[in-house]
Amino acid sequence: MKTVDIIGAGLAGTEAALQLADRGVRVRLFEMRPAVGTPVHTGAGCAELVCSNSFKSMKPESAAGMLKHELSLLGSRLYACALASKVDAGGALAVDREAFSRRATQHVDAHPNIERIVGEVREPDYERAPDAVIIASGPLTSDALAQWISGIAGADNLAFFDAAAPIVAADSLDESILFRQSRYEKDAPGDYLNAPFSRDSYEAFIDALVSAQRVIMKEFETKDLFQACQPIEEIARKGIDAPRFGPLKPVGLADPATGKRPWAAVQLRAENAEKSAYNLVGFQTNLTFSEQRRVFRMIPGLEHAEFSRFGVMHRNTFVSAPGLLDRNLRLMRSLPSPTFIAGQLAGTEGYCEAIMSGVHVALSVFALIEGRAMPSIPSASSFGALLRYATDPATIDYQPMHVNFGIMPPLPERVGNKRLRYAAYAARGAAAFESYVAELKAAGLL
Ligand code: FAD
Repeated sequence: MKTVDIIGAGLAGTEAALQLADRGVRVRLFEMRPAVGTPVHTGAGCAELVCSNSFKSMKPESAAGMLKHELSLLGSRLYACALASKVDAGGALAVDREAFSRRATQHVDAHPNIERIVGEVREPDYERAPDAVIIASGPLTSDALAQWISGIAGADNLAFFDAAAPIVAADSLDESILFRQSRYEKDAPGDYLNAPFSRDSYEAFIDALVSAQRVIMKEFETKDLFQACQPIEEIARKGIDAPRFGPLKPVGLADPATGKRPWAAVQLRAENAEKSAYNLVGFQTNLTFSEQRRVFRMIPGLEHAEFSRFGVMHRNTFVSAPGLLDRNLRLMRSLPSPTFIAGQLAGTEGYCEAIMSGVHVALSVFALIEGRAMPSIPSASSFGALLRYATDPATIDYQPMHVNFGIMPPLPERVGNKRLRYAAYAARGAAAFESYVAELKAAGLL
């Protein structure tokens, strides 16, 4: 029986483990938690979500929606767990994070081909001669392993700080001020709670936000900010109206108290199926905890908010994929066993992207150890486009990235209308991916 060692039971590692185990491969899945923690994980289970509970849009004509379609065609085990753990979130897929991790852990622990081993891996155990190694230790890879990776990669890992949004207890919110509504759906019950600002209350809030005390001021470098998770105070620093055109945009909302669109609005999204906690959408921050309590209680309806979790700052570790990894995310270095990198450490960004990289690496590893040719993932698909970008040696100053239409190969003809253009990307990607799936099946990989 072939053996694969996987380091990290996060999103990518858990998915890869289940995929390989389902194909009859013996997997040793190493996870350092709970023996060694990270600054943000709180549990001991597999596939823990560390920030938002959203897997983003389900809309087929969005890059995030395309990725979900691809995950489902490849039979992603964690995507199935996400669907089974979903909570209401309008057109997005959001999950009850505990139920999601519990399901994933149950699948892993019940699998006869997976051995889950708790403990920090400081470097792969090549002496046991695994048929392949997958490193999926994520953006918070332990220092010892990061040092080993940096040694063999021949280049330094990049480490930078990232920001996570606070979570507030539902029963501490003033629902006489907040209103429940999804954007552009004022007549439907709505999945979000919205905190409406008047112009005066908004300006007072922004003043307080930009002058509030922050942590990690010295190490914090704007150029290194994780673009998709930029701290709210950094956005506010760009100009008083910047948040109003970003996370606090009021478009598509009408406050039932006035019948009008508010000057600005904070959206709160349920964290769990019971709706007992809400996160402040787009409110990743590095304000000190006491300042978060003071400043965020200036948001209308949050005057008495109790914080279940404050926003925090994080390190983010990833390799410079271009020139280091091939399209199958295999390290192009001579190592005792073929070694692959999956998840955010490989330079992808986002929950679904990490899961998809777990599927992709599992298929690549399986093809390799079974001596079969791995079909090439089409660049017209959402994940194929991301891989093409991430592993292109011509890419300069690579930063982790979500799937997005900006990195898709251009359409044969220019489509001016944005909605039609996105639909064309999605249709082309779906057709290409279906052919890819057929090739995987023909090769006996799926
Ligand atoms: P992880 O899910 O982090 O899994 C890696 C696992 O490896 C962890 O369980 C860790 O304990 C373990 N590990 C680390 N080192 C070792 C070692 N030496 N030995 C054994 N085990 C080890 N993406 C989104 O789409 N939405 C978000 O809201 C979002 N928020 C984020 C917030 C933060 C703070 C960070 C850092 C990233 C965020 N991301 C977000 C990006 C990314 O999607 C997630 O980090 C995602 O979990 C990455 O999946 P992964 O499998 O690569 O890593």
